Amino acid sequence: MTAQLRINPRWLLPMTPEMPVLEQQSVFIADGHIVAIEDASSTRTAEQVIDLPDQALLPGYINAHGHAAMTLFRGMADDLPLMTWLQDHIWPAEGKWVDTDFVRQGTELAIAEMISTGTTTFADMYFYPQAVADAALHCGMRAVIFTPILDFPTNYAQSANDYIQKALLTRDHYKHQPLLTFGLGPHAPYTVSDSPLRQIRILADELDLPVQIHLHETAFEVEDSLNKLGKRPLKRLADIGFLTERVSCVHMTQIDDEDITLLQRTGASVVHCPESNLKLASGFCPVDRLQQAGVRIALGTDGAASNNDLDLQGEMKTAALLAKAVASNAAALPAREALYMATMGGARALGINERTGSIEVGKLADLQAVDLSQLPQQPLYDPASQLVYTSSSRQVRHVWIGGQHLLDNGRLTRQDPERLTEIARLWQTRIRPN
Ligand SMILES: [Zn+2]
Repeated sequence: MTAQLRINPRWLLPMTPEMPVLEQQSVFIADGHIVAIEDASSTRTAEQVIDLPDQALLPGYINAHGHAAMTLFRGMADDLPLMTWLQDHIWPAEGKWVDTDFVRQGTELAIAEMISTGTTTFADMYFYPQAVADAALHCGMRAVIFTPILDFPTNYAQSANDYIQKALLTRDHYKHQPLLTFGLGPHAPYTVSDSPLRQIRILADELDLPVQIHLHETAFEVEDSLNKLGKRPLKRLADIGFLTERVSCVHMTQIDDEDITLLQRTGASVVHCPESNLKLASGFCPVDRLQQAGVRIALGTDGAASNNDLDLQGEMKTAALLAKAVASNAAALPAREALYMATMGGARALGINERTGSIEVGKLADLQAVDLSQLPQQPLYDPASQLVYTSSSRQVRHVWIGGQHLLDNGRLTRQDPERLTEIARLWQTRIRPN
């Protein structure tokens, strides 16, 4: 059988469980999937052959948590305490500006940045999820869209029930789109009450949906719950049956031994967002302890308003460095495990690991190729080390999503950066006129 595409990279990092770094391998793609991985001497033919003699081929990164449209708030309110940032800046700006156009255009800007830096799947939790879906489809980007659920009204919906009904309608509308997976996104334990949380658990089981929630982001959140309910938020969620292996818990900067036992027992995963946690001074997720306990961990940037970029390579480096500092152990989170967290770790936490997250026959061709011949990567003893610890995202040359070539030698094939810059500037002058 003739493949449509054959890629001949110098190095291949398939991100299978043993995390090997291979050389002289060719990857064959047909109908959006990986159909063969063979020695470079293979005589199997393809309609198109791409030789990448100085590049590493690896799975595209999976950004397991974010609010893509908030890219339009990037740099709008920096260096402020969390509650000042939220109450005086982000929530008022959201109330004033967030509508379908804002979400569609902000998400397209975010997608351009993510594809350019090697991300092929992003998880999103934001208002007007149909605009997120339309943006992802327009750009050819894979997305796991957690439709937002809160107790209180916003521009988008009026009550928990209204959010849930809108979530189900949006999912129904897009459910045959192979690029999109829908899930339920209850915002946080302090913004969603027990009754909708129980309903979310039932719906997720019935419809086989992933669930994502912000959890234990700050010490204040945990203390507040202890004062009001006499238990930590994670314990409350476990007691009402909310926690399952479908649930990814975002942040988890406050963790005690009982929390770890609950995560182990329920199979819930953690999405680590180190740069957002550092920028908002929220706390430190103890990655090394979680890994030793066998808890699944993914990596996310969170929104660009609290990061301020969507570069998952930078996030990997921060995660690797922070894990060592928090554990007082330089051996914590080695480079290859950071790469796993940014690829298969994300796929497992989001429930899409049967389809993407590694380079294996039968999986979707969600791939990136990174040039390791540039000065910041010299000399080169270990490609995995260069990918994590140097500024490798600037050297991402190619990205394929479901076999579609979306970054070709550094150039976006479906999006126009000049148009995106113009749109971003228009929003900036509207939001902060000078
Ligand atoms: Zn978030």
